[in-house]
Amino acid sequence: MDILDLLKSRAKRNEPLARYTTARIGGPADLLVEARTVEELVALVNRADEVGMPCIVVGGGANMLVSDAGVRGLVVLNRTRATRFEMKELSARVEADSGVVLATLARECIERGLAGIEWAIGVPGTVGGAVVGNAGAYGTEVATNLHLARVLRRGRQPEYWTPRQLAFAYRQSALKRYRPESRPIVLSALFDLKRDHRVNLERRAAEFQARRRASQPPGATMGSMFKNPPGDYAGRLIDACGLKGARRGGAMISPVHANFFVNTTGQATATDVKALIDLARETVRQQFGIWLELEIELVGDWPDLPPEEPDDTAQRATPALDPPTDSSTRLD
Ligand SMILES: Cc1cc2nc3c(=O)[nH]c(=O)nc-3n(C[C@H](O)[C@H](O)[C@H](O)COP(=O)(O)OP(=O)(O)OC[C@H]3O[C@@H](n4cnc5c(N)ncnc54)[C@H](O)[C@@H]3O)c2cc1C
Repeated sequence: MDILDLLKSRAKRNEPLARYTTARIGGPADLLVEARTVEELVALVNRADEVGMPCIVVGGGANMLVSDAGVRGLVVLNRTRATRFEMKELSARVEADSGVVLATLARECIERGLAGIEWAIGVPGTVGGAVVGNAGAYGTEVATNLHLARVLRRGRQPEYWTPRQLAFAYRQSALKRYRPESRPIVLSALFDLKRDHRVNLERRAAEFQARRRASQPPGATMGSMFKNPPGDYAGRLIDACGLKGARRGGAMISPVHANFFVNTTGQATATDVKALIDLARETVRQQFGIWLELEIELVGDWPDLPPEEPDDTAQRATPALDPPTDSSTRLD
C-alpha cells in the first residue's frame, strides 16, 4: 500500500467531524483519512509525523466534544476491524484491532461462549478508545482483563504495553494523560477470556442492556459528561443543583440523567455544550465545593485549554522493571 495513493484516493478535506461523533457535533478536520488496516493506521500517523502535521485518531467519536472550529491537521478515522481468537480448553485470548467496535467484539465473544467483555455490549466506540479511557460498566472495565495493548509511540516502532505500563485508573490511563495530538496510538488490544455457557452470557448481556435502557437517555450524546467524584455521582450532584433540563442553544442537560448532555435538535454546537459544562461545574462547585472532572475529552481548537502534560508521561508510567515487550510477540 502506497501512502500517497491512499491519501489521494481517500482523503477528505474540510470534512465536518459532526458526522463521526455520537453527539453529532464538531467542526471540520483539515484532512480526514480512513484507515482500514493497522498497517494503514501506522503509515498515516508516521507520514503526518514526518511532514510535521498534527494528527489525531478518531474511533467511534463517543467520548469527545469536537470544537466548532474543528481540528487542524490530519484526523485518522480508525476503521481497522480484524479480530484474532486463540482458543484453549478453558480459556481464550482475543487480539482485536483498535478500530473494532467494542460492542461488536463483546457480541462476538458471547457467541463463542467467551466471558470477560460482555459488560461492553452497550458501550459505543472502539477498542482503541476504550483502552485510552479504560471504559467500563457495572463494576468491570477494560483493565479487568486486558492482557497487553500494542501501542505506537510517535516516531517509534510499535511495542506492547502491559496494564501496569498503561497505569489504568477510573476512566483513566497513561495514554489519556496526553493531548490527542501527541498521544501514542493504540493499534490493537489483547484480552484474556474465560469459557462460559453462551446462555449465561446472553442473560448477563441482556441484563446490562436493560439497566442501560432504564437509566440512560436516548438521543445524540457523549455518554457520561463528568467522572463521578469519590463517594458520589456527578449526575446526582447536577440534579441536586436543579439543572436537569437546562438548555443552551440546541444542547440540554438530560431530564432523564443529569450527567448526560443531549444534542436535542441535531443542531447543537460545541459552544452550546461547553456552556452547559461550565454551568454544571460552576453550580456544583458553588453548592457542594466539588470540582467535576470531565470524562469526555475536548478535541480540536479550544481557547483557554491548560498546557499539555510533558511528553514523558508514558516513560514515567513505565516501571523500569517492566519494559515494553518485543513487538514481534503476538498472542502469547
Ligand atoms: C450513549 C453512550 C453511552 C456510553 N456508555 C459508556 C459506559 O457505560 N462506559 C464507558 O466507559 N463509556 C461509555 N461511553 C463513552 C464511550 O463509549 C467510551 O469512552 C468509548 O470507549 C470511547 O471510544 P471511542 O472509540 O468512541 O473513542 P473516541 O471518542 O473516538 O476517542 C476518545 C479519545 O481517544 C482517542 N483515541 C481513540 N482511538 C484511539 C486509538 N486507537 N489510539 C489512541 N487514541 C485513540 C481520541 O483521539 C480521543 O482523544 C458512552 C458513550 C455514549 C455515547
